[in-house]
Amino acid sequence: MIRIGTAGVPLGTIVRDTQAGIKYVREIGLDAMEVEFVRGVYLTENAAGDVGRLARELDVSLSVHAPYYINLNSVESEKIEASKKRIIDSARIAGILGARIVVFHPGFYGKVTPEETLQKIQENIIEVRETLDKEGNNVLLGPETTGKKSQFGTLEELMAISQTAKRIMPAIDFGHLHARSNGGLKTKQDFEAVFDLFGRQFKEPMHIHMAGVKYSEKGELEHLEIGACQPDYKHLAGILKERKIEATVISESPNIEKDALTLKKMLE
Ligand SMILES: [Zn+2]
Repeated sequence: MIRIGTAGVPLGTIVRDTQAGIKYVREIGLDAMEVEFVRGVYLTENAAGDVGRLARELDVSLSVHAPYYINLNSVESEKIEASKKRIIDSARIAGILGARIVVFHPGFYGKVTPEETLQKIQENIIEVRETLDKEGNNVLLGPETTGKKSQFGTLEELMAISQTAKRIMPAIDFGHLHARSNGGLKTKQDFEAVFDLFGRQFKEPMHIHMAGVKYSEKGELEHLEIGACQPDYKHLAGILKERKIEATVISESPNIEKDALTLKKMLE
């Protein structure tokens, strides 16, 4: 089964809160929403309980995006601890929401090599995982493929980290993969290579982000509407259908619900 939804409350939602967003998602025929904690974990435990109940009632599946200010490879240990706390806090609320995954951008290479970065980020993600495991929190940790070349997060790097512990699964952002490879997602085969690599390690449903993207030699500049630019999401739709892949696809286009509905049409 494929679920499609929006990154945050859809633009057409009149009352700008999470519950209204979930109702609106259902009204327009979508069935997923990513709760965006990009500037901070804004839901209390009580509020998350109410939101989770509504989502279950309306059969809208939830995921969570952790705050942007995360760097698990910082040279300052306080920044690493603060980053871990942001992921843990997000995952705790995600657990109450009934969300399946908490997506986050793991960090930056800074002045050290990609190998050293991988080592340090891996250790920190494992510590976060262990904290959550001790609490009986089963929410997946979803380090996301990132769009800027200064950011840690190629698919290969994330697959390596995900091998080291259970309940760590890369979130695949195709716009970001396209941007950081200077427009590498051109053909259907380019998309298939991503699914092949992921499928070698994971049999569970994928978590996918979708947007058009503007980029420079340094990677991502901004998100654009799909259809107006590469990558061509007809390839994504084709592969999802042909391979009968289970996935949640979250639109991160500037026109979030319109493009989510565009993908839904492509899949029909
Ligand atoms: Zn993201």
